[in-house]
Amino acid sequence: MTDTRNNMKIDRHADRIWDPVNECMAREELEALQLARLRETIDRVSHSVPCYRNKFAKIGLGSKDLQTLEDLSLFPFTTKEDLRLNYPYGMFAVPLRQVVRIHSSSGTTGKPTVVGYTRNDLQTWTELAARFMTAAGVTEDDIVHVAFGYGLFTGAFGLHYGAERIGASVIPMSSGNTDKQIMIMQDYRSTALVCTPSYALTIADRMERLGVNPAELALRVGLFGAEPWSEEMRREIQNRLGLVATDNFGLSEVMGPGIAGECSFQCGMHLFEDHFIPEIIDPDTGEVLPPGSVGELVLTSLTKEAFPMVRYRTRDITCLDYSPCLCGRTHVRMCKTSGRSDDMLIIKGVNVFPTQIEEVLFQVEGCEPHYQLVVDRVGGMDTLEVQVEVNERIFFDEMKKQRAFVDHLEKRLASSLGVGARVKLVEPSSMPRYEGKAKRVIDRRQG
Ligand code: ADP
Ligand code: ZN
Repeated sequence: MTDTRNNMKIDRHADRIWDPVNECMAREELEALQLARLRETIDRVSHSVPCYRNKFAKIGLGSKDLQTLEDLSLFPFTTKEDLRLNYPYGMFAVPLRQVVRIHSSSGTTGKPTVVGYTRNDLQTWTELAARFMTAAGVTEDDIVHVAFGYGLFTGAFGLHYGAERIGASVIPMSSGNTDKQIMIMQDYRSTALVCTPSYALTIADRMERLGVNPAELALRVGLFGAEPWSEEMRREIQNRLGLVATDNFGLSEVMGPGIAGECSFQCGMHLFEDHFIPEIIDPDTGEVLPPGSVGELVLTSLTKEAFPMVRYRTRDITCLDYSPCLCGRTHVRMCKTSGRSDDMLIIKGVNVFPTQIEEVLFQVEGCEPHYQLVVDRVGGMDTLEVQVEVNERIFFDEMKKQRAFVDHLEKRLASSLGVGARVKLVEPSSMPRYEGKAKRVIDRRQG
């Protein structure tokens, strides 16, 4: 029997909006709602979270000082350091009795931070996940294959509940055991794949090795996030897995996945402004930048009970696009992030994001999408080595041709990055493959 789900490769649900009232609200109305919710949030945290109470008291600020949304900029930032100082439960705004779930960040940049959810928080999270998954084209007809790791990490649970809320059939695979993932995709006819972009590539690689033709699978949409990825990487994944690859963004400190997600126009992720206020700041001065500027994303939650966040510095570098979107949603669109400011490499004074290097590698025929960056300091000078897998033809090519390939790649990198990098070609299949977030940088300068 043929499964009708196979015929859903074309996104015929692009026009579906999960919550049209809230997602398509006129800006004036949206801002009035934000201001009211912001005042409530400030009141709530001033009463129940000592860290906020002390910070606000120090500068004599309270909800009464919020005349307009711009007044939010008077309030102090919250940083990962605040969360660490109050580890584990010090930033909770409700007694633990009311907390029904605990998660934590992945700990990519140090000791993980702990977050909690009340029953209402879980409901909000589920609704917001259902929103962005609907925007990406997921419907009750889908079989959603969740290959994010289940556990303290928010990714898997966020999308799991979002998909169930939509009415899709959820396969809670978790990450790892790639051969089994592929078998389940084949046998259960998974239509939507949830994982990190790097794991999507790992799966594509493994399928190739096993001789599995992605065209014979039922996959039609990918919901990828949890790490930065370039447009080139998106194209690669789409071509190799034969699906529409969509981006979604979240961080555990602010909720998890469901903060922002792409609609079918794939032109930035709608950030759900009825629940969060985004600001873009200059990461060095903390000054709020005008609309359209590239800078660090700062988020304030408007509806969270257990773990409200006021002006949380995400460290993610992006920009916001307030122009209308063809889908009809009015919420601002957040551009693909170039990565976290912590991931930014400063090589001989030049700022370099791993995603910039990724873009170049993906454009050069012969490079495989597996790479690692090694930063070192030699004689007081920073050095950057780009280790990249190449296909067998190039790897086993005669020395002269290989040298020309390396020269070409080094020139492309230098002109795109504005600083030189040494290229080292490595054997096919020798780089690590990732099941979760990829680790691109080895920094030997520390210590
Ligand atoms: P950790 O901060 O320890 O990695 P999380 O698992 O909460 O913990 O990860 C959140 C971070 O993951 C974000 O701050 C951001 O840097 C990154 N991230 C999440 N989604 C995306 C995305 N779609 N694009 C780029 N980066 C993302
Ligand atoms: Zn849109």
